[in-house]
Amino acid sequence: AILLTAVTLTACSNGSGNGSGGGSTGDAANAQIGLLLPDSVTARYEAADKPFFEAKVKELCSGCKVLYANADGDASKQQQQAESMLTQGVKVLVLDPFDGEAAASIVGEAKAKNVPVISYDRLINSPDSDYYISFDNEKVGQLQGQALVDKLKKDGVPSGSGILMVNGSPTDNNATLFKKGAHSVIDSSGYKVLAEYDTPGWDPAKAQDWVSGQVSQFKDQIKGVYAANDGTGGGAIAAMKAANLSPLPPVTGQDAELAGIQRILAGDQYMTVYKALKPEAEKAAELAVDLTKGNKPKGDTTVDTAGGAAIQSFLLTPVSVTTDNIESTVVKDEFYGSDSAAKIC
Ligand code: BGC
Repeated sequence: AILLTAVTLTACSNGSGNGSGGGSTGDAANAQIGLLLPDSVTARYEAADKPFFEAKVKELCSGCKVLYANADGDASKQQQQAESMLTQGVKVLVLDPFDGEAAASIVGEAKAKNVPVISYDRLINSPDSDYYISFDNEKVGQLQGQALVDKLKKDGVPSGSGILMVNGSPTDNNATLFKKGAHSVIDSSGYKVLAEYDTPGWDPAKAQDWVSGQVSQFKDQIKGVYAANDGTGGGAIAAMKAANLSPLPPVTGQDAELAGIQRILAGDQYMTVYKALKPEAEKAAELAVDLTKGNKPKGDTTVDTAGGAAIQSFLLTPVSVTTDNIESTVVKDEFYGSDSAAKIC
């Protein structure tokens, strides 16, 4: 059981809810839709994106079938998975690329077969992709940077003190945007970046190793850690705990994954960024089903890729989460299911 040292969550005492969900009548179509996700070191994909996507496709098109593959952090594996789906005759690819540059060749192969591609969560840098569904990712980085800087100021940490930056994967366009957003706040905050690392494949174990090395070097000069997601944040916290760094500096995160929220309640992690993955996955499912019918709805906005293409895009809004608003965000949204409060506690 988690010890709620930092806060008492009122929802912890009444873990109830109802898990009803009505199905609507599907149409006659029996199209296959491919869903390709990038890694298996991050909880969200199999805990949230995949089930939310599959449920929505089923609701909208009872005869449709989702083919699913996870690239396990390997761009060439993802290419093979996509090719296999194209061979099996998928009508649409929903692709969260492990490597946003390399995945342009998947888009090329799909285009040759007239199969539209939706860039899911991470942008594929190809003018031929059809849609992009994600969050305002620069904003994610700003929220993380701002929360960290505000916390340090509130705690009276003097200007000029040091921060470590544990960024995301260099193959992920989102990681570039998170980093840009974070720097836009940190660089003008008066705090100094001691060292910075782009974590290959977002691997928590690699983040942990890197932070261990930094702790041996900088010891208690480290007053805060910017970590780009909950996985890398968890790695950073494990490294600092193993080195008995005390007090533990505030650490940021992203994804509101269950382990991250539990670390926030235990006082080990300072914040996370909640991205409502249900609407993201459902939007992708809706669009995919639309595309199987030949409909091509307009996006809310456009995002540019190489080759100057303006991709039709849908960008959702991220929310900063600390102990103060766990209840009004992930618990209220039943992010971990109707028994979310019980799972957190
Ligand atoms: C996603 C994050 C995720 C990270 C690692 C990013 O592209 O936006 O939600 O934590 O990849 O998989």
